[in-house]
Amino acid sequence: MIRLHDTLARKKREFVPADPKRIAMYVCGPTVYGRAHIGNARPAVVFDTLARLIRHHYGEDALVYARNVTDVDDKIIAAAEKEGVDPSVITERYERHYLDDMGALGVRPPTIAPHATQEIAPMIAMMARLIEQGHAYSAEGHVLFSVPSDPDYGILSKRDRDAMIAGARVEVAPYKRDPADFVLWKPSVEGVIGWDSPWGRGRPGWHLECSAMIERHLGETIDIHGGGLDLIFPHHENEIAQSRCAHRGAPLARYWVHNGFVDMGAEKMSKSLGNIVTPAELLEQGHRGETLRLALLSAHYRQPLPWTDTLVAQAKATLDRLYRAAGDAEPGEVNGSVLDALRDDLNTPLALSRLSALDGGALRGSANLLGLLQSSSDQWFQGEGDAGAVDARIAQRAEAKVNRDFATADRIRDELKAEGIVLEDGPNGTTWRRE
Ligand SMILES: [Zn+2]
Repeated sequence: MIRLHDTLARKKREFVPADPKRIAMYVCGPTVYGRAHIGNARPAVVFDTLARLIRHHYGEDALVYARNVTDVDDKIIAAAEKEGVDPSVITERYERHYLDDMGALGVRPPTIAPHATQEIAPMIAMMARLIEQGHAYSAEGHVLFSVPSDPDYGILSKRDRDAMIAGARVEVAPYKRDPADFVLWKPSVEGVIGWDSPWGRGRPGWHLECSAMIERHLGETIDIHGGGLDLIFPHHENEIAQSRCAHRGAPLARYWVHNGFVDMGAEKMSKSLGNIVTPAELLEQGHRGETLRLALLSAHYRQPLPWTDTLVAQAKATLDRLYRAAGDAEPGEVNGSVLDALRDDLNTPLALSRLSALDGGALRGSANLLGLLQSSSDQWFQGEGDAGAVDARIAQRAEAKVNRDFATADRIRDELKAEGIVLEDGPNGTTWRRE
């Protein structure tokens, strides 16, 4: 039995899927306008590990894991204007980087990756239903959700009304009936990305996107909804209100799972504070994806994780020890005590400490469940398991070439050559081989 801490219930609950043959999990994915930082990588790694555990428990095909891509957003529009390119240039570039960076951390792609720009019709249909049922209204080209129309608004964050209004930093706008009302749709001026709707040309709000995509791909009520702690309010509160009101009271998710922040010193790592470390730069410094993955799993997912050089060095030392203990054994059965730790609300620090007591095939099989010890021990110690880091540097070189920064591109090629890695540029990109 798997137990998960449910934010809505404020306690650990036994995980009982509605249909154990088709378990639906949705995790809010990236807004693709910049390079992901380690704080963004934490939910990707945590929910990848939970997905591995669920598949181990219920069967490889039992889980449908959806992680969306927010590819329309004011930050994307601003980034596109700054570069003088179409927003799709920005979103395609940073989605590719996101998948490369997460891939280097051993994160498997989700089953479904819905993109907001491809899901406008279901969003319009959901808004029309909300308006019809008195839960939303249109005003001056906007569609707004009427918070007072939903008596249960606030059940997830348990905030009172004043705290909610302050916390959401909602604009006071003349077209709002209530200051707590939030935007489902906003008008797009000429030249800005938009779609035709019954309320004029515009674009969707972020909250609506997730509700509409969950309905379309997974159904009215899913098993697990996940994301970072910072999404509880307003994002997940708003998702709950939209979906429940559009679905005659059916709950959006049966379990709400939230991961804690990655901290830098006393502060949360965030782009707006400018205190970010990215997987891309850590890989460039020669750290391996698996080291970063272990570092991210070294604290319990609900606890804050202070990110330090010592943490990364310890993760590397731990992996060296584990690879030595695993030797060249084939993966064996997952050890029961490691499995028990993971089943208890994904207790990865306990699972890691129990791994340390194992060796050979039991160690390798159990570590594989956490997405660790994916290389052979020979490859690990020769550095050949480090394909992710090489790929990350090839991607940086490609980006430097696009930016006509040939000095950087040449430097990266020369550095790799010094490590015995030869790059070959071809029509489909760059490949590499060992000399
Ligand atoms: Zn979401």
